[in-house]
Amino acid sequence: MAFSFYKCRFIKYTMIKKVTVFCASSQKIDEVFFEASRQLAKELSSKNIEIIYGGGSIGLMGALADAAIENGGRITGIIPKFMADIEWAHAKLPSLKIVETMHERKALMIKDTDCVIALPGGCGTLEELMEVITLKRLGLFTKPVVILNINEFYNPLIDLFENMIKGNFLREEHKKMWTIAESVNNIFDTINLSPKWEKSAIEFASIH
Ligand code: AMP
Repeated sequence: MAFSFYKCRFIKYTMIKKVTVFCASSQKIDEVFFEASRQLAKELSSKNIEIIYGGGSIGLMGALADAAIENGGRITGIIPKFMADIEWAHAKLPSLKIVETMHERKALMIKDTDCVIALPGGCGTLEELMEVITLKRLGLFTKPVVILNINEFYNPLIDLFENMIKGNFLREEHKKMWTIAESVNNIFDTINLSPKWEKSAIEFASIH
């Protein structure tokens, strides 16, 4: 069946107000990733875009929050109570929301967002990224999903997506669910190039 809406129809995301960022909690990763996280916070803050993130104080999450605060940006952390109880939450956030479960956190992080950006991360970041892509495939989430491929970190995942498409686990059209930026410098261009996506994606979600 042919689905025309995904073909070369792009949305200009100049009106973005809120961006969700998924990123690593690890503190022991290369400085290049911290730089990217700080640069991203600075870029978003300079455009007065609110950042929604996991609320942590260390790793790329901490760097993102520190840079947003330093640059007078708007940032909201969303963290489960059990993490806040063991003092994992960033102490200086202008806005922090405490939820009960990891599931609630993920749902709230993408509720009303205009765009999702995934910086490099571990299993937590990967899980968050896979959930939004899964929801997008089902038409339950329609906003741009940008993979920030700093230092080609996500190349193995991009290759795996290709394998999924080659093996008919995903359709070629599903490639339009994510866009890839190689650096923070072209993040807004990448968002602007994200193909339009509709709830009707459910109509071609299954492969048979
Ligand atoms: P990862 O990409 O595996 O580092 O996961 C990032 C996610 O890990 C966050 O969204 C949290 O769910 C969780 N997480 C792990 N350690 C921390 C921490 N010290 N503070 C806050 N969140 C953490």
